[in-house]
Amino acid sequence: MRKRIVAGNWKMNLKRKEALVLVSEVLSQISKHENTEVVFAPSFLYLFKIAKMCSDFESVKVAAQNCSKEKKGAFTGEISSEMIASSNGDYVIIGHSERREYFRETNTDLAEKVNRALANNLKVIFCCGESLTQRKDKIHFNWIKKQLSEGLFYLSVKEFDNIVIAYEPIWAIGTGMTATNEQAQEMHQFIRNCLNEKYGSEVAEDTSILYGGSCNPVNAKELFSQTDIDGGLIGGASLKADDFLSIINSF
Ligand code: PEP
Repeated sequence: MRKRIVAGNWKMNLKRKEALVLVSEVLSQISKHENTEVVFAPSFLYLFKIAKMCSDFESVKVAAQNCSKEKKGAFTGEISSEMIASSNGDYVIIGHSERREYFRETNTDLAEKVNRALANNLKVIFCCGESLTQRKDKIHFNWIKKQLSEGLFYLSVKEFDNIVIAYEPIWAIGTGMTATNEQAQEMHQFIRNCLNEKYGSEVAEDTSILYGGSCNPVNAKELFSQTDIDGGLIGGASLKADDFLSIINSF
């Protein structure tokens, strides 16, 4: 059965002390064996420390927000998957729309990153999503299929065990403009159908697909009750312990 996951993508926010206080507050209010997997995606700088704080919590994991497509070597400023794994990271977020847009990451780059992450036994939260123009032009389904095909669909069935997909419509990220339950469910179902077509029903049924885009304590319950939505990738609302906890408790 697929996992329910609530992951907090902190982006480039929080100073060290603020980050550690936030983690402590969340941990103090969840059980050590949550039914929902909780993931913190802090800055690389705090990853090792936060992984240590979470180590007694079976269902709390730590993610990097990005990784290099390179293995190692003369790539000043880059962070490799090997480094993330050796700092006790569990996941890496790959293909966030901010990385695609501001850092010009292509599907080919992302596929290389996915390979590097899996080679280092990291799980991947692979993001996909369309712009508002693409949705208005009714090319959003094709766009998502292309992102999945080029970014992920060269993987084997076994490798797919370590993939979580996050559907994040770009127009909903950080805008307060959440997708409606129907829009989100429709796309999640489409993604699951793509998985079924490519890999068969077992992979399709077992892969967690998260919704991201202005998810908050008010709308999380309804979004998470949709058949094909298995949790959320949360930006802004993951920076406040009460909001994040309320989203975790929305299932
Ligand atoms: C995100 O950036 O992954 C995200 C979903 O952000 P927000 O929740 O702030 O829209």
